[in-house]
Amino acid sequence: MSSPTETHTNTAEQDVLIVGGGIAGLALADYLRRQGRTPTVVEQAPGWRDGGYGIGLWEDGLAVLRDLGRLDHARNLAADPDGFAVRAGGDLLTRTTIPPDRTLLLAIHRGDLHAVLREGVPEDRVRFGTSPARIDERDEDVRVTFEDRTTETYDLVVGADGVHSTVREQCFTRWTKREHDTYVWSLWADQDVDVGSDMVSVWGRGTEGFVARVGDRVGFNLAARLDQRPDPPARAHLRARAEAIGWKLPALLDGTDDDPFFDRVRDVTCERWHTDRVALVGDAAHAVHPISGMGASLALQDARVLAQELATARPGDPSGALERFEQRRRDDAKRVRREARFEAAVTFLESESARQARNWVVEHTPLFDLFIERQVTEG
Ligand SMILES: Cc1cc2nc3c(=O)[nH]c(=O)nc-3n(C[C@H](O)[C@H](O)[C@H](O)COP(=O)(O)OP(=O)(O)OC[C@H]3O[C@@H](n4cnc5c(N)ncnc54)[C@H](O)[C@@H]3O)c2cc1C
Repeated sequence: MSSPTETHTNTAEQDVLIVGGGIAGLALADYLRRQGRTPTVVEQAPGWRDGGYGIGLWEDGLAVLRDLGRLDHARNLAADPDGFAVRAGGDLLTRTTIPPDRTLLLAIHRGDLHAVLREGVPEDRVRFGTSPARIDERDEDVRVTFEDRTTETYDLVVGADGVHSTVREQCFTRWTKREHDTYVWSLWADQDVDVGSDMVSVWGRGTEGFVARVGDRVGFNLAARLDQRPDPPARAHLRARAEAIGWKLPALLDGTDDDPFFDRVRDVTCERWHTDRVALVGDAAHAVHPISGMGASLALQDARVLAQELATARPGDPSGALERFEQRRRDDAKRVRREARFEAAVTFLESESARQARNWVVEHTPLFDLFIERQVTEG
């Protein structure tokens, strides 16, 4: 291994560099490996981390896991909810049954989903603990200088490096990262609060709780609109929000002493996701508000479509494949982002009269069933 001060240039053809070993990056590496390629994944973390929040993975994302032969493993680690319910505190507003003969939705720990995807990527293809410091796209290749001062060349660089993507930052100019006034806490409780076998969204004033039992743990996210970021995001803030939402949230909070995951909600709009030799996938290209429950599915679908297009690309010239990839994926991502913003506006209402009107519509019309149908975009 090169020392941090050494500069090393590898001029041999390196094929594909995937920046970011998250959901999109690992799925893409798995697909490319099956095509006989040897992609390199660079992950800024020093090693794999198992932490994270609970994810609802809908049919589009599950189809990609099935395609990769990893759905059964994921299903063993996940919960297959009986339905999706919406509550306003203690009151059940609506519930959609999920047909038992169809896996439409899995509730899974992000760490478990990540572990399932890791099976398709040999660890010796992953460079941990570094990141591209400089990316120079040239006619014939892309030259990447890493933070450890090594330099390599690749045919193609894929930014799968999430919402704060350095690839997007370095290689694309026309994009925006919208900072919402919403913050999210996420926790897992080991104790036995009976939350049933549905995935549940619980609405409070300017807040939402998302609850799902997975095995003997209950994952719960709590999102709230706040005037400013709590600094530090102390447990007292979380407690006040959980009490305000009600239902099982306070009891769930009593059931864990863990430090919560905490972050601000952001979404990303990027005018183009590719140049001739650099592409963006997943959150790097189009992070959506997590209220949509679709970010991981979009990331997995991007990986599949990009791999499909690269399979037919001319050797050493990925530009046509990148163009076709973006054309096939752009409308879907755009629609999800638009709907997610709408869902966020509806979910995080503050005005009492507006909330009452919304609750009446959700309780007395099939609006929510239609929302569930819309979660399935490819079928
Ligand atoms: C609280 C919360 C709840 C959510 N709930 C759901 C849900 O229910 N359903 C759903 O589908 N989606 C959900 N999402 C969204 C989903 O998690 C993301 O859309 C998904 O993880 C995106 O995958 P990705 O691979 O693009 O990015 P990520 O999974 O974020 O992976 C990015 C990877 O890149 C690495 N990286 C970052 N920068 C660099 C760098 N400079 N160099 C090298 N590596 C780098 C990171 O360490 C990470 O490993 C939720 C998100 C949040 C925050």
